Amino acid sequence: MKAFEAVHALALSCGFSHVGDLDVRTIRVRTEVRDSCAENTCRAYRTNWSCPPGCGTLAECEQRIRNYHRGLILQTTGVLEDSLDYEAMERIALAHGKNLDTFRAHVRLLYPSCLVIGAGACTRCGACTYPHEPCRFPEQMLVSMEAMGMLVSEVCKDNALPYYYGPNTLTYVGCVLLY
Ligand code: SF4
Repeated sequence: MKAFEAVHALALSCGFSHVGDLDVRTIRVRTEVRDSCAENTCRAYRTNWSCPPGCGTLAECEQRIRNYHRGLILQTTGVLEDSLDYEAMERIALAHGKNLDTFRAHVRLLYPSCLVIGAGACTRCGACTYPHEPCRFPEQMLVSMEAMGMLVSEVCKDNALPYYYGPNTLTYVGCVLLY
């Protein structure tokens, strides 16, 4: 099995519910996505090395992305009882984080220079060292798609992978850029 196909199979074995090809040339980085980070509704802005401004300028993030041309979109979809089922939302978010961690640990054996991009701020440490000390685990820290300036729904649409899987479902999205 070729390495790219092996990574697709690996992603499914790590628990992702949907995995799709990603043409990196379709990725547009958007100032408005970074501006929405600065509105700080998630309260992670300026608190974490994985979030703006700690993760680098938009131009620096784009430069990292343009080192690649092919990758995979990684989705974890779960079911909610209703739109207020916060317990399930948290459970799906945790599952997605766990899937990404397992995947990241294995994919680097096949593609040592790959870039795994996650969802949300890095929560590896109890309190992030930002901005006073360097990141404790730079090899394990994942920057989110939004922090890189990507509009997640647009990236999925431009690569023909659904983002919405029906009423009372929730999907978290990450991706890996391979080469
Ligand atoms: S690994 Fe720790 S120090 Fe590094 S970004 Fe994550 S929380 Fe912050």
